[in-house]
Amino acid sequence: MAKKDLECSFCGRKKSETNLLIAGLDAHICDRCIEQAHGIVLEETKTEKTGNIKENLDISKPKAIKDFLDQYIIGQDHTKKVMSVAVYNHYKRLLQPASNDDIEIQKSNVVLVGKTGTGKTLMAKTIAQMLNVPIAIVDATILTEAGYVGEDVETILTKLLAAADYDKEKAEQGIIFIDEIDKIARKSDNPSITRDVSGEGVQQALLKLLEGTTVNVPPKGGRKHPDQKFIEINTENILFIAGGAFDGIERVISKRLNMQAVGYGASKSKQNITDDETLQYIIPKDVKDFGLIPEIVGRMPVLSYMDPLDKATLKQILTEPKNAIIKQYEKLFQMDDIKFEMTSGALDYIVEKALEYKLGARGLRSICETILTDAMFNMPDSGENKLKVTKSYAAKALNKSSFNPLKAAS
Ligand code: ADP
Repeated sequence: MAKKDLECSFCGRKKSETNLLIAGLDAHICDRCIEQAHGIVLEETKTEKTGNIKENLDISKPKAIKDFLDQYIIGQDHTKKVMSVAVYNHYKRLLQPASNDDIEIQKSNVVLVGKTGTGKTLMAKTIAQMLNVPIAIVDATILTEAGYVGEDVETILTKLLAAADYDKEKAEQGIIFIDEIDKIARKSDNPSITRDVSGEGVQQALLKLLEGTTVNVPPKGGRKHPDQKFIEINTENILFIAGGAFDGIERVISKRLNMQAVGYGASKSKQNITDDETLQYIIPKDVKDFGLIPEIVGRMPVLSYMDPLDKATLKQILTEPKNAIIKQYEKLFQMDDIKFEMTSGALDYIVEKALEYKLGARGLRSICETILTDAMFNMPDSGENKLKVTKSYAAKALNKSSFNPLKAAS
């Protein structure tokens, strides 16, 4: 073909009618067709993505979400139910068509109140695992207002981006778990909080993320890499879950309940409830009275509490979840052809020690590890093919070790 006859193989325009004509092996494409094709690609991938969400929503009705959580988390039924609905509604919100009725579904950000080690982080992680979305877990206590020493609130998004393998779209549909949110509460109203330095400032900075904003995120984190290109992240569809022990909030709740009791005719049952039972009456106002600013409380409308873990629950945690600690040891020993078994008495002993050291579920693993270290060291080349851990074996192993409960708690 003579050069002057070159034309776009897609639209037939002559070279002279185009701004750019790119040559392929046997064909040419003009700038306009490239742009059009690019538009089609964007449109297609968008439907694909919404398609994924839709699929998720179809599979993950609230009951199915709870069933999934049941496999990994023992107890905490109330919170599992609340979370299932929150996550389901979150996905519905992502799917809502461009609004023509002025009803905009608000985001279902969640606050979980409960003692350390009761499974708040596990709850958030399990949800992320089920939805196959990235999750960033951050500790509110290391956050500062921009400009202070510490980490800026924006670094949360750097973490999420890393968890999403730097896929911006994935990150924008991820989950952010903010641990120890209670530690950035305002000091006033709450005598047990010692930190106030920039608590309210951090809350204000967090609020922006919660409200939905676009942030220029340095993918490698802020200060150390000043030359990197920023990635723009929109936080509008990110699900925020915050957790905290809110030490002392029981007092706030009982005060409110007692006032109600006085106001609306005394209810005796409410006066005799223990701290653990009090938590189930928590309402957003209590969290606000504890020291979270009203705007944050408003942006995190779903509130639930975690039950403290008793002996029976801790024992179940050792053996029942899909990846229970004891199942993991069974597998590890099995790989060396060793049949591993732990008696019920030994399990009780481990639970008692976890409670004695006030480690909760967090300590179960480190106590097991301490008890089993010698066996895991010696047995692979000892020729033995059976290990039965009894209560006395466990007690002897733990006493012999230099088990440090403080280290185990971290
Ligand atoms: P929190 O965030 O409330 O401090 P975590 O979620 O970090 O507590 O829990 C610590 C560990 O304890 C988890 O890794 C998990 O193995 C175990 N755990 C705590 N609660 C539960 C539970 N309800 N069911 C199963 N495992 C639990």
